[in-house]
Amino acid sequence: MRANPHFQKLPAGYLFPEIGRRVRAYTAAHPDARVIRLGIGDVTEPLAPAIIAAMHAAVDEMAVRESFRGYGPEQGYDFLVEAIREHDYRARGVEVAADEIFVSDGSKCDSGNLQELFAADAVIAVTDPVYPVYVDSNVMAGRTGSPGPDGRYPGLVYLPSTAANGFCPAPPDRGADVVYLCSPNNPTGAVMTRDDLTAWVAWAHQHDALIVFDAAYEAYIQDPTLPRSIFEIAGAREVAVEMRSFSKRAGFTGVRCGFLVVPKELRAVGAGGEPVSLNAMWSRRHTTKFNGASYVVQRGAAAVYTPDGLAQTGAQIAFYMENARILRDGLARAGFTVFGGQHAPYIWLETPPGTTSWQFFDQLLDRAHLVGTPGSGFGPNGEGFFRLSAFNSRDNVEEAVVRLARVFG
Ligand SMILES: *Cc1c(COP(=O)(O)O)cnc(C)c1O
Repeated sequence: MRANPHFQKLPAGYLFPEIGRRVRAYTAAHPDARVIRLGIGDVTEPLAPAIIAAMHAAVDEMAVRESFRGYGPEQGYDFLVEAIREHDYRARGVEVAADEIFVSDGSKCDSGNLQELFAADAVIAVTDPVYPVYVDSNVMAGRTGSPGPDGRYPGLVYLPSTAANGFCPAPPDRGADVVYLCSPNNPTGAVMTRDDLTAWVAWAHQHDALIVFDAAYEAYIQDPTLPRSIFEIAGAREVAVEMRSFSKRAGFTGVRCGFLVVPKELRAVGAGGEPVSLNAMWSRRHTTKFNGASYVVQRGAAAVYTPDGLAQTGAQIAFYMENARILRDGLARAGFTVFGGQHAPYIWLETPPGTTSWQFFDQLLDRAHLVGTPGSGFGPNGEGFFRLSAFNSRDNVEEAVVRLARVFG
């Protein structure tokens, strides 16, 4: 068997393994250091009681012949799809049809799987810095060359996210087949406004491009006037798909559930120049390669939308956002320039002058026993920046701020 050659283009030393290696080496040499990890973007609060109760009840149903369920609908059970339509969309004035929602085991898989719908030589645009999944999955599919010395892959269109553009790049002068947009953003914590999204929707119409909108962090938006869905923007149904996940909004990182919205208006260009429906293509792909998210998990996800579920998960998000506020204020008091953390659980800070992202990683670990994520791991434009996550206990966050003040203040 000849292997897929494109995998060789991916650099071996991936970000999180390298962080793990440095932390292990440090703790082995300094066994008394109490290291606080503000690095990896994973939730820390347990599942809300309403979700646990619904999952327990679903497990009990599975134990009885009369209520046992085998294969479910690949697209997702009606009880979950209807709750999504009502609470995530209708409540914000957006109509999404039941057969435009595809329940899945999470957005990472969806973002990787989705590119099966793109032509092999489709031109992909990404922000820099970026959530690495969008890039690496397209590298695996052969849409790029080998990375250059700056870490960029030839063939991709990079959109620099900088302090000057508020980490929300405007559409480029050129077109592309696909652009990945993530708002609120991982890693920068930036959030796109209605005007930002409107400009992107206009660009996509002009260039026949597809916007892949990753709204994994929409529940963290604090300002109710900011858009939570790209479908709040007029004309978006013809040019965008939207990824949503229960991972960050309800603590499902280990439970696994998300969904993709693919409007029926979306058209791509077929081999003979004819219009083809992306909804039909995705439906074909999803029902061919996926047999549905687990019944128990979908019952848990539906419980997020009950009054108790909404109140409990809302309180968790408020807790993380208070962590973000404490981190942001503490960093600012210690003299750092900070971004993000207002509508996202991530703080994006500038490293001190002349200090690279990895040098700052080592300094922070050595002097404050804190672990974060070097911005350069998310793309060349992340150099000189550093990501801290608000997913942690209050005690750890407060202790982190005390150490930052002592070391840098
Ligand atoms: C965490 C995260 C997701 C969610 O991924 P799941 O596979 O649903 O857990 C999606 N996009 C971004 C940018 C994320 O950070």
